[in-house]
Amino acid sequence: MNRRSVPAAVFAAAVLLCLLLFGGCGSTEAAPTVTPEPTPCLHEVWENGICAQCGMVCEHSSFTEEGVCESCGFLCPHTAHSAEDARCLLCGRRMLHTYDGNDLCVCGRTAPAADGYLDPALFEECPEQGSLVTLLYPTPNYLSGDEEEIKKPLYAYLPYGYDYNAEQRYNVLILMHGSAGDEDYWLMSSQDYDSSHEIYVPNLLDWLIYLGEIEPCIVITPTYRNPGTWWDGGVGSDSYQFGSELRSSLLPFIVENFRTWAEDGSEAGLVAAREHFAIAGASYGSMIAYNAGWYRNFDLFAWYGALSGSGISGGDLAAAMERSGLPLGFLYACAGDNDSELTTSRATYDALLSEVPSLKDGEDCVFELVPDASHDIRVWENGLVRALLHFFR
Ligand SMILES: [Zn+2]
Ligand SMILES: [Zn+2]
Ligand SMILES: [Zn+2]
Ligand SMILES: [Zn+2]
Repeated sequence: MNRRSVPAAVFAAAVLLCLLLFGGCGSTEAAPTVTPEPTPCLHEVWENGICAQCGMVCEHSSFTEEGVCESCGFLCPHTAHSAEDARCLLCGRRMLHTYDGNDLCVCGRTAPAADGYLDPALFEECPEQGSLVTLLYPTPNYLSGDEEEIKKPLYAYLPYGYDYNAEQRYNVLILMHGSAGDEDYWLMSSQDYDSSHEIYVPNLLDWLIYLGEIEPCIVITPTYRNPGTWWDGGVGSDSYQFGSELRSSLLPFIVENFRTWAEDGSEAGLVAAREHFAIAGASYGSMIAYNAGWYRNFDLFAWYGALSGSGISGGDLAAAMERSGLPLGFLYACAGDNDSELTTSRATYDALLSEVPSLKDGEDCVFELVPDASHDIRVWENGLVRALLHFFR
């Protein structure tokens, strides 16, 4: 059809419509094509990071602390973390390095002190610091056997964030000094790590948490001694009596005063939370961990650290474990290769393994030899770090 055949009335109507729609457009020129503005997608329905309406892919630019994308609700699977500080490469949440039998994490990081030496960078000041408190707790004088109540001191390391994370509960490590120390041994002063480095344990704990080696935890350092007493020279009264104190006085006091995982300090409350309590000690403190911890209170602690020392037979440890009917979380034991306590420590460990065939060396427990070390601080400090890598996992 050509223009001459269009009826005049239809043509006039078309011109009028054109004028109405496009104002000044010439009646004989074609109207320009105009695409109407699309209705913007509000991205109201997301499926795994993709808008179900328009197909846009979310950039996940900001996440909540729990790892949920604030735009699309995508839950971060935390599939990869930084070898530097264990932060998730996608959402930034701090994860934990986890080491295999070769001391390697999937991120490529090597475990601290894997070669028997702590990196001196750990002796620098950590950017995120915990705090220390000291308290006196009441307890019957189990050592003298009378009911007289005495007050004993403890120090507590509280991790960075303890004050403002008011809802967070924490795992607890009871950390015992050796025969020459006291309740202030671990937390209150720097020690010579080697001839050129000083080490301050609270700062070391700060770093382990900051770098994603361990979960934030509370570390309590009491003393097994009572006021006016000294080492009894063996594994007699003090190490055994301290077991009563742990169960009936100290742990209930800790639960009352700090945000632990135990609902209350009753025996049932403590037993229910045993996965969140560890006990470790250096030298004579190992005897305390074994005797007062494992032997007398296996139902209250799942995690044990014997940093060069034993003072108990593997058979006694096996019997206590069997009596409780409860599983071991992990036993970390160590000694220096020139350590005066190497033979006895190793003998206890080996006897335990042969008495309890279900325990697997390297899985449930480990005995590490610290190279070029005698019965000295490098064994305790490395041992503390290495033990913590296994606890509460
Ligand atoms: Zn959309
Ligand atoms: Zn997103
Ligand atoms: Zn993540
Ligand atoms: Zn890692």
